[in-house]
Amino acid sequence: MQIEEQTWDCVIIGGGIAGLTASIYLAQAGKSVLVLEKSKTLGGRGRTTNKMDSYLNLGPHALYTNGKSIEILNELGIEIDGGIVPTKGKILHNDKIYDLPATAISLLTSPLLSWKAKKELFSFFIKYKTIDTNRIKNIPLHQWLQHKMKNEVARQLILMLSRLATYSNEPERISAGAALKQLQLGNAIYLHYGWQSMINALEKRATEAGVHFQTSKQVKKVNGSFPQFTVHTNDEMITAHHVLSTSTPHEIAKMFSEHERAPEIKECHPVYVSCIDLVLSRLPNPNIDFALSLEDPFYFSNHSRIAKLSERDYHVVHVMKYTIATEDTERELEDFIEKVQPGWKEYVVYKRYLPRMIVSNGLVLAQSKRPSPKVDQIPGFYIAGDWVGDGMLVDASFQSARKAAQLILENTR
Ligand SMILES: Cc1cc2nc3c(=O)[nH]c(=O)nc-3n(C[C@H](O)[C@H](O)[C@H](O)COP(=O)(O)OP(=O)(O)OC[C@H]3O[C@@H](n4cnc5c(N)ncnc54)[C@H](O)[C@@H]3O)c2cc1C
Repeated sequence: MQIEEQTWDCVIIGGGIAGLTASIYLAQAGKSVLVLEKSKTLGGRGRTTNKMDSYLNLGPHALYTNGKSIEILNELGIEIDGGIVPTKGKILHNDKIYDLPATAISLLTSPLLSWKAKKELFSFFIKYKTIDTNRIKNIPLHQWLQHKMKNEVARQLILMLSRLATYSNEPERISAGAALKQLQLGNAIYLHYGWQSMINALEKRATEAGVHFQTSKQVKKVNGSFPQFTVHTNDEMITAHHVLSTSTPHEIAKMFSEHERAPEIKECHPVYVSCIDLVLSRLPNPNIDFALSLEDPFYFSNHSRIAKLSERDYHVVHVMKYTIATEDTERELEDFIEKVQPGWKEYVVYKRYLPRMIVSNGLVLAQSKRPSPKVDQIPGFYIAGDWVGDGMLVDASFQSARKAAQLILENTR
């Protein structure tokens, strides 16, 4: 097949979740679509690796029951299989372990909280699902919480939950509306066999729809505009009517370095985390599967308690600090595991440290808007990813990918 010689209706840069999603919508509408992926495999940050017959996502990965991802997967006829994470677990505070106050009774009886804190939290939990998040989208979360809650521990608890929901620890910058919206998304789902099961299903659906893929193809430069783009890869030139990039803002800027009209990328503020991914033969403390630190940005979760993630009944555990690593971070993460699972090092079958993971290429900031999928300066050029349009994390990738595909289809009518 001489795919190099044709002019594609759309070339998609990047074969992660956004690229795969957009490719399906376009190909199902009859468009010729080529996906170019610089890695050897598809999936991007949603990939899962197999270690010691166990399935490890790149850090902890969950979908939300009421998020756009589930809506779009349903729309595409893709079924996902996994377990819903129950809202129970532990909180670490001043080296003591408390139950997470996840129900009204556990909140009212929690020894962690004063009566003032209980009262404020009770009233928050009753109302938070009905808060109009649009009205507070331009206020930073920290400022909104200072105004809403007087009790320091109550505020810390909401900040801890918002770290969990948004994967970020920047309350002075993040939009209160966006963080609250994220908290409204319902329960998390851990997927059986990791997110790779979702990637494989997306790839299968794309292939059935007629999408072409080329891996180990890095796009270096893009020239032109609708209806004639030239896409320069490491070893060839490809022509297309439309280009959709799901790459990072930084890489897109490089692709357009010779253009005066580069896509809108100034405002993007990437969010980093550092993680330890573990396969353990045993959990020293089987009563703790999930724990968060109240004042420090640490997360611990035994994902294999909820999802099928090991062929050998090992435990697949993800531990995370909601910041980019410094030289102390690996030790801090290990110390946190030790508090939750004392003696865990004896049972390590596999351990991986990921110090600089980008969970989102663009935090939803209170003070500025994120770019939209249509890049006005370059007709026919679109963007999608977790830094584009509404929503957060992979919900934003799914949503912006669908929107970009719709805009491309409208442009060709
Ligand atoms: C540790 C961690 C935990 C996370 N947990 C969650 C979670 O619990 N819930 C949630 O919703 N989200 C989570 N996320 C975020 C989620 O993984 C991402 O939002 C999602 O995978 C992004 O998909 P994407 O397709 O937009 O981008 P990517 O997955 O980054 O895909 C972009 C693709 O483009 C390719 N590419 C880039 N430049 C070029 C080029 N020049 N030429 C060719 N190819 C190129 C890349 O190789 C990549 O495959 C997490 C992320 C991390 C890192």
